[in-house]
Amino acid sequence: MNQNIMQDDSALGIEKSIEGRRAIRFNKIEDDSLSLDIPNNLLRKTKPYLPQLSELDAVRHFTRLSRRSFSLDTHFYPLGSCTMKYNPKINEDISMFEGFANLHPLAMDSCAQGTLEMLYDAEKILCEICGMDAMTLQPAAGAHSEFTGALVAKAYFEKKGESQRTEIIVPDSAHGTNPATAVMLGFKTVNIKSTSDGQIDLEALKAAISDKTAILMLTVPNTLGIFEFNIEEITRIAHEAGALVYMDGANFNALMGIIKPGKFGIDIMHLNMHKTFSTPHGGGGPGAGSIGVNKLLEEFLPYPRVIKENNEFKIKTDYPNSIGKIKAYFGNVGVLLKAYAYLLMHSKETLGETARNAIINANYLLKKLKKNYPAYCEDYCMHECVLTPSKELTSNKVKTLDIGKRLLDYGFHAPTVYFPLIVHEAIMIEPTETESKETMDLFVEAMEKIFEEGKTNPEIVKAAPHSLSVKRLDEVAAARKPNIKWDISDTAKQLGSATETKKEECAK
Ligand SMILES: *Cc1c(COP(=O)(O)O)cnc(C)c1O
Repeated sequence: MNQNIMQDDSALGIEKSIEGRRAIRFNKIEDDSLSLDIPNNLLRKTKPYLPQLSELDAVRHFTRLSRRSFSLDTHFYPLGSCTMKYNPKINEDISMFEGFANLHPLAMDSCAQGTLEMLYDAEKILCEICGMDAMTLQPAAGAHSEFTGALVAKAYFEKKGESQRTEIIVPDSAHGTNPATAVMLGFKTVNIKSTSDGQIDLEALKAAISDKTAILMLTVPNTLGIFEFNIEEITRIAHEAGALVYMDGANFNALMGIIKPGKFGIDIMHLNMHKTFSTPHGGGGPGAGSIGVNKLLEEFLPYPRVIKENNEFKIKTDYPNSIGKIKAYFGNVGVLLKAYAYLLMHSKETLGETARNAIINANYLLKKLKKNYPAYCEDYCMHECVLTPSKELTSNKVKTLDIGKRLLDYGFHAPTVYFPLIVHEAIMIEPTETESKETMDLFVEAMEKIFEEGKTNPEIVKAAPHSLSVKRLDEVAAARKPNIKWDISDTAKQLGSATETKKEECAK
């Protein structure tokens, strides 16, 4: 990038300030009736110290800043496990339709027929896709869905008089939220190891399961990007021991339209709308989860629920065995509306096609990359593949993090790194179904270049990124103590006394 532009780009606004410069100015109206009765002691005595810029400069400043970010709208974003899918922009328009967006959450049923029908219908469609009997769309996220599902299981066992079931079995290939959920509800987690090909070890499962097991909690596909081929045998073993089987279906985008979990013995499962059903996520939400359950567990679902009587949609709260409310009103309805719009764009066939394309794309990258980035599972993957840096790279001390950082220089968002935990130096890549072959080929080209660099000139990879406005950040501090507020004193510190003087002048 041109050096001057870079310098311009990093300007913070304050140092571009020129006295009297501003955007459009309206004429002042002299009208006493408009004066506000602000007590004298609260009135500002000095002008606020704000940068004075023309509209063009201000707009360009913020637009430049926005371009420093990587986003789905600007870059290939191959995050594994967190599925950054294509989110049709029309869904955003639909979620802003006045009838939905302006509906009061306490509106009478008769005034909310459209929203209630949407929720009712979305539940029916999702039940059909998953082969489940009933569903709630209230959870706000995947982890919240797991929490809800485990509460439902707990209520079920309590009613059955089996409160001694205090354990949840979690394979080591499960998503991290699974054991976290178990612990939050006071369950004891029992970990079981995977076999070397990434499948659940049936013998380990049989050894771990007992009349203390409440739930066997499976991530399907698991975090290695692999489907459990023995799933029917697994659910049979669990049911024989009297346990329920929970499926974490956050990444159902690899399976929808192809299989129905209800058919192979799943008792409870969750979906992430903000992964599988094409609603945006990132930056902390909002998302939307859901759990589907079989007939036996329906009475424990959270209330309220939408029912249909005499062709009218009604809110029903009277469910004596329900676990209660888990979210205000009906959850994140705006997000559900986007997911519903996506579902209406699809048929069973096209959903299946979407899942197949996700699998084809991930396998394409697996085949292209595995020579220089050995795969945990060589032969195939579902919607994502888990790779590692090869010996040529590790012997030069090039780590997964370095590869992720160097990808930024080549214009790609980094994949998920260091997850799943059971794979050392994991690089977890998920292209999603909507990326073109051309984009994936460019990504492969960048990965190959990084491999060559790592072999012959490792320092360039280890010191990446080189082309961005910031170097390596303290990622933990950035997440735990984010500094997202502009503060004049921070700027003053950065710019030194020049600004201090200006500030003092203003204060006078
Ligand atoms: C993302 C994800 C979750 C958690 O979902 P959130 O909406 O982030 O709470 C759980 N399990 C799997 C497999 C996931 O990919």
